[in-house]
This record gives sequence, C-alpha cells and structure tokens, in this order.
Amino acid sequence: MRYEAPDSLEGAVALLAGAQGEARVLAGGTDLLVQMRADVLDPDLIVDIKKIKETRAVTEEKGGWRIGAAVTGAELKEHARLKKAWPGVVEAANLIGSTQVQGRATLGGNLCNGSPAADSVPALIAAGAVATLVGPKGKRDLPVEDVMLGPRKLALGKGEIVASFLLPPRAARSSDAYLRFIPRTEMDIAVVGAGVSLTVDGAGLVTVPDMPVPDPMSAVMKNPEVAEAKRLVNACESDFRKLVQGALVTGARYGELASLRASDFNPDSHTVHVRTSKSGKGRHIVLNDEGVALFKSLVAGKPSDALLLPKRDGSSWAAAHQIRPMADASKHAKINPPISFHGLRHTYASLAIMNGVPLMVVAKNLGHSDTRMVEKHYGHLAQNFITDAIRKGAPTFGIEPETDVVSIDEQRTKGTAS
Ligand SMILES: Cc1cc2nc3c(=O)[nH]c(=O)nc-3n(C[C@H](O)[C@H](O)[C@H](O)COP(=O)(O)OP(=O)(O)OC[C@H]3O[C@@H](n4cnc5c(N)ncnc54)[C@H](O)[C@@H]3O)c2cc1C
Repeated sequence: MRYEAPDSLEGAVALLAGAQGEARVLAGGTDLLVQMRADVLDPDLIVDIKKIKETRAVTEEKGGWRIGAAVTGAELKEHARLKKAWPGVVEAANLIGSTQVQGRATLGGNLCNGSPAADSVPALIAAGAVATLVGPKGKRDLPVEDVMLGPRKLALGKGEIVASFLLPPRAARSSDAYLRFIPRTEMDIAVVGAGVSLTVDGAGLVTVPDMPVPDPMSAVMKNPEVAEAKRLVNACESDFRKLVQGALVTGARYGELASLRASDFNPDSHTVHVRTSKSGKGRHIVLNDEGVALFKSLVAGKPSDALLLPKRDGSSWAAAHQIRPMADASKHAKINPPISFHGLRHTYASLAIMNGVPLMVVAKNLGHSDTRMVEKHYGHLAQNFITDAIRKGAPTFGIEPETDVVSIDEQRTKGTAS
C-alpha cells in the first residue's frame, strides 16, 4: 500500500485520478482505519489530505463560513465565532464518538463515509451547506444533500474530493440545532438524527427555509434551449423566478442582477445599467422587447433606489443563495443534468449568437472588452449559423462548372481509362 500526503488540492486530485486499483482519501481515519483493520477495505493508495491548507481552514466568506473538509470536530468547538453562528453544526460534529474521536473526525470524512447515521450530515443539510468539490474536471459546488446518494454511494467522480463546506450568511435572530436518538446514552450510532435551522422575524414568527428533496446532481453544466428555459422559469419560486428571467434577458451575472436598483433601468434607451462589472467598469445592457417588458414590470411602483430584484423579504440575494433554488428549479423542470445560475448567461449568449447577433455585440452586452471570450466559447455557433444560412439561402443559378478534367470514375464508366 502506498501512502501520500500532498500539500495541494491539485496534487491530491492528480494522485487519486491517476491511481491504479483502489484509492482512498484519509482525513481523520476514524472510519477508514477501522474499516481497513476489519478487512472491509484494502486500498492500494491512501491520500492524506491534512497537509492541504484549504482543507484545514475555517474562514469567513461573504458573510458566511467556509469550513475545510479536514477540520476536526474538536477544532470547530474551539472556534467561538463559528459556534455562535452555527451552534447546531458544531454540536453535531461534537456528538461524533468520544473526545478522542472528536480530535480526529472531520466533517468531510463523516459525509464521505456514506453512512445514513452520520451525525453532522442532517445538521449541514438543515444549515443549507454547500460542499465544494475539486476533481480532474475542476471545481464544483453541490448542496450537501446531493453528495450522498444512498448508503456508501457518493456523487463524487474518480479523483474528486470534498475540499470544503460553505455555510451561508445568517439573518438576525437565526439559530440551528441537532438532536439524535441513540439506544445508549453515549458513544452510539444514531437510529435517527434531526437537524433544524430557523429564523424568527420581528413579529415572533418562525421561518424555516424550504429543504429540497435529495436528488443526484451531475457535474455537467448545460445550456437549456428555449423550451427548457421556459420550464425552468415556471418551476422557480416567485422572487427567484424574476431573477432567473432577468438573467435570461440580459445575460448578466448573479451578483450584477442582485445589486440592480430601479433607477438602473432606462425605459427610453431600453437599457439596464450595471454599475460595476467584474472588470470594475460599468456597462449598459441593451434589452429586446421582452427584456423591456420585464424591467417595466419590475420598476412599477418602486422608488428609484429600491432593489429591482430583491428576495421575498426585501433583502438582496447574497452569495451562494442562488445554488439551492437553481437546483430545485432544475429538478422540478426535469432538466437533467441541472444547470447553474451562470449557465443562464451561457444560454443568453449562445442563443443570441445562434440568432445571428454579431459576436462583438454579444461581448459588449456581457461586459467583455473584446470578442476573445465570446469567440472562444461561442465562435463555433456563429460559424454554424453562417454555414447553415449560406447553404440554405445563398443564390443558385444552375450553371455547371466548365472543365476539361475528367475524373477516373467517369473515364472507367466510358471505358477510356488505361
Ligand atoms: C469509536 C467511534 C465512534 C464513532 N461515533 C460516531 C458517532 O457517534 N457519529 C458518527 O456520525 N460517526 C461516528 N463514528 C464514525 C467516524 O468517526 C465519523 O464518520 C467521522 O466523521 C469520520 O471522519 P474522518 O475524518 O475520521 O474520516 P476518514 O476515516 O478519514 O474517512 C472516511 C471516509 O471518507 C472518505 N473521505 C474522507 N474525507 C474525504 C474528503 N474530503 N473527500 C472525499 N472523501 C473523503 C475516506 O476515503 C473514507 O472512505 C465513530 C467512529 C469511531 C471509531
């Protein structure tokens, strides 16, 4: 058996992806080593991920918390601010085994062991946690409930590992908890575990975010055609539906749409003003009639500084808040593989180009300074469009080409070939 301890995610992924025979990630080892001792597993390669800094850090990220997959339960318990924000997640991790086990056991290992009795998993699902996976095809985010497909069955591809978890930002007056039923009082495996995360509003009413029913998701991102896009829009909750429609008619990014204000729409020039693009510069996105109609309905009755596309409670869409409703809408619209929010930008660009909009115009609306990106991703669509259009529509005159050259086949038919 070979043991490796790379210090980068790329190194770990390369080792796992290139492995001959069975390869296993080692985090705390509290499941893996027990299973190896019991001869349940006999891996040819073990890749220890504890030297990789991304898997060992707890950091604040856009108002939420990112927890490395190889952070132990004991380390989570000592993190006062995380514990204050997500007491249920920390509590669940610290119900795992004994003090000694908690000093080794990790959230990534608890999830990837694939046990239906894993204590931290219901708490992570209730929290709306998203797992960040890294593999040979790059990085992708998956809601935690979609990582475990069934007992010992994971949605991870060959060479793919869970690098970290992202817990979303918390509204005021929010908290979470985890409880389990075990036959003994300590050190037992849960018969049933229950996690909850809720917010109490100003009037004392409790709101619990909708939890999606688990469904396997695929890594493949897809551009839905027009019919799929319509189904997707219809499958969205009302506030999220407007955001998705906004993306489809502008090609704008999630963050750009989330920060639009009523005064950013100009009904005279038929444009929406994105004040700060990814490049740092602003841009005016030109709308077609459908886009103008949508934005007219969005500004109706709103003061000029009001958010154009707010959440139901009036707040703006924060980082990662689109992942779950997008996964739900794809599922209800039966779009498989599901699409990400960024996929809507691809949909806008590819359909515009297939409809004959010049690359430069699409690039400008998307906020690119030149056509390089658009050409790289969609140039072939423009080429197909030109080829199809020419083949269908270029004039024909019925004139045969004049030539003295006779093909060998023709000579054979006439019996003149030597
Ligand atoms: C005495 C004892 C008591 C226990 N009590 C409990 C309990 O009360 N509740 C409970 O839920 N569990 C319990 N467990 C099980 C175990 O401790 C937990 O599941 C723990 O969270 C596993 O984490 P780990 O870091 O040790 O995983 P490891 O053993 O290192 O890995 C577990 C599995 O996940 C894979 N893996 C690990 N990390 C990753 C990653 N980042 N990406 C992809 N794959 C990965 C490994 O290849 C392996 O197959 C107990 C175990 C023992 C020995």
